[in-house]
Amino acid sequence: MDRQQEYVLRTIEERDIRFIRLWFTDVLGTLKSVAVAPAELDGAFAEGIGFDGSAIEGLARVYESDMLVVPDADTFQVLPWRGENPGTARMFCDIRLPDGSASLADPRNVLQRALGKAADKGLTFYTHPEIEFYLFEKDIKPGQPPTPVDNAGFFDHVPHGTGHDFRRSAITLLEQMGISVEFSHHEGGPGQNEIDLRYADALTTADNIMTFRTVIKEVALEQGVFASFMPKPLADAPGSGMHTHVSLFEGDRNAFFEAGAPYQLSTTARRFIAGILRHAGEISAVTNQWVNSYKRIWSGAEAPPYVCWGHNNRSAMVRVPMYKPSKGQSSRIEVRSLDSAANPYLAYALVLAAGMKGVDEGYELPPEAEDNVWTLTDSELRAMGIEPLPASLDHAIHLMEHSELVAETLGEHVFDFFLRNKRAEWAAYRDQVTQYELDQYLGRL
Ligand code: GLU
Ligand code: MG
Ligand code: MG
Repeated sequence: MDRQQEYVLRTIEERDIRFIRLWFTDVLGTLKSVAVAPAELDGAFAEGIGFDGSAIEGLARVYESDMLVVPDADTFQVLPWRGENPGTARMFCDIRLPDGSASLADPRNVLQRALGKAADKGLTFYTHPEIEFYLFEKDIKPGQPPTPVDNAGFFDHVPHGTGHDFRRSAITLLEQMGISVEFSHHEGGPGQNEIDLRYADALTTADNIMTFRTVIKEVALEQGVFASFMPKPLADAPGSGMHTHVSLFEGDRNAFFEAGAPYQLSTTARRFIAGILRHAGEISAVTNQWVNSYKRIWSGAEAPPYVCWGHNNRSAMVRVPMYKPSKGQSSRIEVRSLDSAANPYLAYALVLAAGMKGVDEGYELPPEAEDNVWTLTDSELRAMGIEPLPASLDHAIHLMEHSELVAETLGEHVFDFFLRNKRAEWAAYRDQVTQYELDQYLGRL
């Protein structure tokens, strides 16, 4: 048993924690939890706790359904909303097969493998997510759009607004769990909020995003509202993105920084951006994994439908934020395509893999888009070599099917499961006859 594991056992005893939740994530990014008693933890650290993997989306084929969850002691945190005496804590877990080897179907393992490849080159991948979500009145009536809790907009200060109390409670819980929040504000849509987590290595960030989603749902329940990370819940208001600022570090040195270079961006950074752009279409089924994701991408409201980059250009898919000399080597880039309902482990693994491919193969960065790309015509975009992102999940699936980069990064098991699952989602959607079609066609045709 290592020191961190001993610390966990000691804390459990000192703080009278009676329930330990072991958390892991399925391929679609749903958090799973199994509670164990403290007495089980010795064994859990040593050899894991068994469970039936075939019951979890994408984790196992039926004939290899016995799996183990092995808690990662570094992720131990008390759950503040569960109260004290007795308390409840959680740890994220790695999923292993009965022979002790890592499960290749575990999304956390997919990200660990991608990070491991970068680590072999001496690089650490840092991420800082800006997470947008909506707050609605809790009575959601089937067949009707949800009602936002307020009517405010971007950065609005809402007197007695639900959002203030909500954000304050959420941030307090997050900070109690060791998750630092940098920034929070009302977003552009009615009832829409954004909370930005401080940058951390990508595995920590992905774990933090999973915790964040749970905390937001808990606070919503407590405050009698309904929170949703759906990418585009309202037809006439912006969707919820999960823009992520990324950078690569070599030890203490920011590998994206080069003093005096345009925008202080090193060759590594330029190639990394080029990689993300060139592979944006094929990783889209993962960064934007739902039928509804494409309604956000194409809604116009500050979501990025065109594959291009720009300096401080908020219409671009990759934005290079203004460089602040006071912040030292803080060069980073903002990837704006991701939405708030992505599986963060898989999405970050692919963003890293796409960027690293650009670095390894020395991709040339195309010229930056200086205009607001939303205002350009199709032929202007074509003349500038700017491609659109996929128009739909169906289109994204087709691009992913032919992607060696995605197959290699996700591994065969996750790749196959994901495609099968997404084809079924598309087929179910295609089978619908919507109210829109009835309104448009029934009388006219
Ligand atoms: N809600 C927008 C999106 O879906 C982003 C707004 C912003 O720039 O923060 O990406
Ligand atoms: Mg925002
Ligand atoms: Mg942003």
